[in-house]
Amino acid sequence: MHGILYLCATPIGNLEDMTFRAIRILREVDLIAAEDTRRTRKLLTHFEIHTPMIRFDENCKASVAEKILQRLLAGESVAVVSDAGLPAISDPGTDLVKLAIDAGIKVCPIPGANAALSALICSGLDTSKFLFAGFAPKTKKNRREFFEKLSTIEATLIFYEAPHRLKNFLEELAEVFGEREIVLARELTKVHEEFLRGKISELLEKISEPRGEFVVVVEGKKFSEPATPEENIFEVVEKFMAAGLDKKSAMRETAKKFNVSRREIYNRLLGTGK
Ligand code: SAM
Repeated sequence: MHGILYLCATPIGNLEDMTFRAIRILREVDLIAAEDTRRTRKLLTHFEIHTPMIRFDENCKASVAEKILQRLLAGESVAVVSDAGLPAISDPGTDLVKLAIDAGIKVCPIPGANAALSALICSGLDTSKFLFAGFAPKTKKNRREFFEKLSTIEATLIFYEAPHRLKNFLEELAEVFGEREIVLARELTKVHEEFLRGKISELLEKISEPRGEFVVVVEGKKFSEPATPEENIFEVVEKFMAAGLDKKSAMRETAKKFNVSRREIYNRLLGTGK
């Protein structure tokens, strides 16, 4: 019999968010694979959990994953924990889950705190359709492409960002998204928890030196209403561009609105020299 791989949530700030089940599983497994053993040690001490631990972070994950797999195959059970929240969400775990599934090992979630969903449910933005985008790429060019792709999605978007990169992130977001509603969820579940709501430019003015942990929740692109008889193609393209879209995206959105091909929009603009 193989062991079970548990993906175990831990609090994102408030220790009371640890679940009874998480404590029991962490006590019962043979091994805990932790992103930061020093940090997890504090948590384990607090809850009187004495299970052995192994370091499992981005730098050592390939070699450690192999060791964990061997122990699972030998019948031992292992719990993966990250520094905070759910493992495998912008944290190590994904590769190990894939390896375990391929090896026929049972993978079991131990749900609990998660920053993205906690921010979303308090954002006041549409929760019926959302996309978790995680951290934006590090280089400016890749970030721009990433934002451009996301700007056309008709669903609420959720990002993670470090405080020292937040201003830059919001400035570049505004360049691509124009004036969208956003919510900055700061220090969730902690003493200084707060939600800042408004347009991107308004929040940029409010945060001079961002401190703490942030989730950025962004209103999705509004669903394209079909064009009315009064609207004309040229004005609509210009309106989309004024809202922050580049010319190509503006033409694509206009084509959707008028239910015609992008080529047709292109030809019509070309015909007028615009
Ligand atoms: N696995 C975690 C989860 O399930 O939420 C996320 C880990 S990711 C490495 C860390 C990022 O999550 C932070 O940079 C921040 O964007 C967000 N985050 C984590 N804890 C938070 C908190 N208490 N308040 C706001 N954002 C938080």
